[in-house]
Amino acid sequence: MDILSHDVLIIGGGGAGLRAAIAVAETNPKLSIAVISKVYPMRSHTVSAEGGAAAVIKPNDSLDYHAYDTISGGDWMCDQDAVEAFVKEAPQEMLQLEHWGCPWSRQEDGKIAVRPFGGMKIERTWFAADKTGFHMLHALFQTTLKYDPIQRYDEWFVTKLLVDDGRCQGVVAIELATGKIQAIAAKAVIICTGGCGRVFPFTTNANIKNGDGMALAYRAGVPLKDMEFVQYHPTGLPFTGILITEAARSEGGWMLNKDGYRYLQDYNLGKPEPKPVLRSMELGPRDRLSQAFVKEMEKGRTLKGPYGDYVHLDIRHLGEKVINTKLPFVRELCLKYENIDPIKEMIPVRPVVHYMMGGVHTDIRGATPLKGLYAAGEVACVSINGANRLGSNSLTELLVFGARAGKAAAHFAADQKAPNPAIAALALDETERIERQFLWKKGGTERIAVLRKEMHQAMEEGAGIYRNRASLQKSAEIIRNLQERFSDLAITDQSFTFNTEITAAMELSYMLDVAEAIIQSALQRTESRGSHQRTDHPQRNDQNFLAHSLAYRNESGPPRMEYLPVTITRWPPGERVYGR
Ligand SMILES: Cc1cc2nc3c(=O)[nH]c(=O)nc-3n(C[C@H](O)[C@H](O)[C@H](O)COP(=O)(O)OP(=O)(O)OC[C@H]3O[C@@H](n4cnc5c(N)ncnc54)[C@H](O)[C@@H]3O)c2cc1C
Repeated sequence: MDILSHDVLIIGGGGAGLRAAIAVAETNPKLSIAVISKVYPMRSHTVSAEGGAAAVIKPNDSLDYHAYDTISGGDWMCDQDAVEAFVKEAPQEMLQLEHWGCPWSRQEDGKIAVRPFGGMKIERTWFAADKTGFHMLHALFQTTLKYDPIQRYDEWFVTKLLVDDGRCQGVVAIELATGKIQAIAAKAVIICTGGCGRVFPFTTNANIKNGDGMALAYRAGVPLKDMEFVQYHPTGLPFTGILITEAARSEGGWMLNKDGYRYLQDYNLGKPEPKPVLRSMELGPRDRLSQAFVKEMEKGRTLKGPYGDYVHLDIRHLGEKVINTKLPFVRELCLKYENIDPIKEMIPVRPVVHYMMGGVHTDIRGATPLKGLYAAGEVACVSINGANRLGSNSLTELLVFGARAGKAAAHFAADQKAPNPAIAALALDETERIERQFLWKKGGTERIAVLRKEMHQAMEEGAGIYRNRASLQKSAEIIRNLQERFSDLAITDQSFTFNTEITAAMELSYMLDVAEAIIQSALQRTESRGSHQRTDHPQRNDQNFLAHSLAYRNESGPPRMEYLPVTITRWPPGERVYGR
């Protein structure tokens, strides 16, 4: 088998992957770098981010404020050393991105404009209208083109990490255009494959967000950290799950129940004021807003639609000018996907799965416990997001920790010998597995869509905004059963060119692994914290659970759990207080 070879290999061409690639190239121009992506990089999910990216820039703000908002927003599950590094490096990274061409929106006097975001004490969210991710990804993409050592493998799908001698030494990937299975050796690998929202039925996440990188690392023996913390965003469109950005609320949008009442005032989030108030009402944190929706539903105060319950987001009072200049994409999405004009009509919304706080366990440099393997971006858990991420921290996290992982991997790769020839045999095994399980598979009675639908239902019903022991246990059994049924999957398309049936099957298998880690982590955490709400254990329990959960894969059953203390530097656990 022929093996291609690079010094550093990055899986993922989204914000984290491209930032990491630039960091490797700048740290050591002698290294050869591969960026592998299952879609063309500009189609990565980062492109769809709307609202903005947080970093301290205004004189009335401070790094400690940003750190505290992040830590309290995360219900004290964040590692505070990581948060301190994050807030310190965030402004440098954002200015650097401006120099690379990102057109940040400006105030009239030419200074960077910032908008308020949920759970933040001070306005610190930089934005480029409401297409922030699009502009950030463009700036990063065009910058990577400057560096000759960066070689791209667009539309290649990674199926396995090659691990030999306790070290990650490359990957196996399928070139989607030809179906060719290829081994690519590397001295260091950085996983930047994004999140896994597609494990749930209603999500803002693109179709490609299936937890691939989480499952790849998990199968290589690396633990997944804090997987029970799944973020619901309070304002997704029913049915499609398309996101209506938090910026709509930061500009002054209201959440109304079926009676036209601003119901958030009933949930310890402050009282209505003439202008939006930071950390209050609609600008409260996402976990609290999503939980308030469920409570409204239980009181019978939500509206009923063909795709379940919903409430209204009302931005009509902002006026046409503000909507067209500050929220043009919100209007475009509403017109195209709901056939309503938010200048004149209210927007139907419901909480939808948006983001994974958990992910591949890394340290503050992006290194995983497996030598030679790094991770950054949404796939990783450093952790700065704790039990609930604050909106606009993720885009900045891609930059700060993408750069950190790139630097660390570059230093590591520079000292390594060439990958071990033994990986050829591992790559051959993987080729045979792909052929046996997918390409040349005969027979089988199960269908991908059926298994995926059952997984969705089990996750929504058992591991949604509120969970309990019984609901989680039931879902755990369903997912285990789906894992077994997966081996009886029928594959009908055996062509080599863009075989999306095979990639969908592989993505389903990644999602099942990730689903099991989410459920088992949620089952074992018998407390409520941030986005993880157990109706049978409603209190936070710092005595037993001020600790990260680590899920280790187990071939034949649910994952094995371990716990790791949270790093507290300067902010001892306190109460989360919102509203005035
Ligand atoms: C609609 C939406 C709006 C958002 N808005 C904001 C916002 O305003 N502010 C904010 O801070 N955050 C926001 N977020 C969150 C944030 O955008 C994401 O967390 C972040 O962009 C993830 O970036 P990433 O680089 O980690 O991964 P992604 O951008 O998802 O990129 C993943 C990459 O991995 C590749 N990949 C995956 N699997 C494989 C495989 N098997 N083989 C090869 N390649 C693979 C993909 O091709 C892709 O290139 C938003 C998220 C969504 C969904």
